[in-house]
Amino acid sequence: MKKKFVGVLFLCCIAASVACGAKSQEVKAVGQTTVAAKVKKNTHVASHAAAVTESGAAETTSAANERAAETASTAESSEAPTEALAAETYLCFQSSRYTYGEFQRDLSQLQKQAGSALRVDVLDKTVDGNQLYDLRIGNPEAKHHLLVFGGIHAREYITVQLVMRQTVELLAAQQKNGSFRDAAIRDLLADTEIHLIPMANPDGVSISQLGMDGIHTEAVRETVRNIASKDGKQLTAGYLQQWKSNANGVDLNRNFDALWESYNDHLGHASADHYKGTAPECEIESKALADLTRRVKFDATLSYHTQGEVIYWNFGQEGALRDMTLALAKRTAELTGYRLDGNFQVLDTAGYKDWAISKMGIPSLTIEAGHGGNPVDPTQMESIWRENKDVVPMTLEMIVKGEVHRISETK
Ligand SMILES: [Zn+2]
Repeated sequence: MKKKFVGVLFLCCIAASVACGAKSQEVKAVGQTTVAAKVKKNTHVASHAAAVTESGAAETTSAANERAAETASTAESSEAPTEALAAETYLCFQSSRYTYGEFQRDLSQLQKQAGSALRVDVLDKTVDGNQLYDLRIGNPEAKHHLLVFGGIHAREYITVQLVMRQTVELLAAQQKNGSFRDAAIRDLLADTEIHLIPMANPDGVSISQLGMDGIHTEAVRETVRNIASKDGKQLTAGYLQQWKSNANGVDLNRNFDALWESYNDHLGHASADHYKGTAPECEIESKALADLTRRVKFDATLSYHTQGEVIYWNFGQEGALRDMTLALAKRTAELTGYRLDGNFQVLDTAGYKDWAISKMGIPSLTIEAGHGGNPVDPTQMESIWRENKDVVPMTLEMIVKGEVHRISETK
């Protein structure tokens, strides 16, 4: 995919802690045209907002700039969206295997129907050229922030569909003034901004779902052939379906700076599963998540995985951080019916949740939805949805009430 930069606006570079490599681009029409971002007044955010047009898109520079200005001027108002949002018309509420292409189609429709209520950033591009979409809902000026992501483990792709349903549902509830228990969704979103990353590992998800056909570039196909050889496996459909890593053969959820050095992956080479990489955050996808977390400083994070119907909340944190994480975990367990597991010593380390808790001081959960083996049978989607539908509004409510928040960057 060739990209043509038609203009770059250096808007601000305020926070010294921000890695300048962090890209934050406001996207106007997914897969076709991306248009410049607005200035973020939040002092935590230093963005190099870029006006970007994909090659082949008909839009001119001036049109892009005009629409960018429009985005900037309307993003903070509560202007009515262009169309009524009908959740059931989205592929995430229909498809039995939700692919990157289907996700992009839903995203395009959502941008049309949600208008300025949805802000779409591209955090980065993967080695196989897929975009890492960060969907932002709520008040961009809010001091409270929540992160929810799915699809970091390739074969656990049913969580992509789940997080996209959560996104659509939240926007629909906001539009029609829905509520969670006594709290209006609009009120919850007035005090928070939520970041949803449905597909944190699009290359891996595509390999697990579509095999070699899910790969765009010959270079990545060659990498995958080499990984199979290192794994001592034939390049069968079954082997690829069980893919858990990204396209470089790194298990992204063993690639964070949380006891990474001491984690023994028993491999030492790129693999479909479990290889921790050469260093923490050596991969585009894990670095994008960590950079975003350093920049936004979330009050809580939820990582969706499959399977086991279990919630992991403990990484040895103490005091208020332990209390708040456990409170969030218990409330999540009440809604989902999943059991809690706080026995962190026997678990694998170097996951996102482990890092967010231990290095960033953020109450964070790993939620393992579904049961059986991976990939989880698509017939479980409806029960997973029922169990997790209210988890996001519940967490927003806890954040707004001050029951869950970040402690500090290091502890
Ligand atoms: Zn997982």
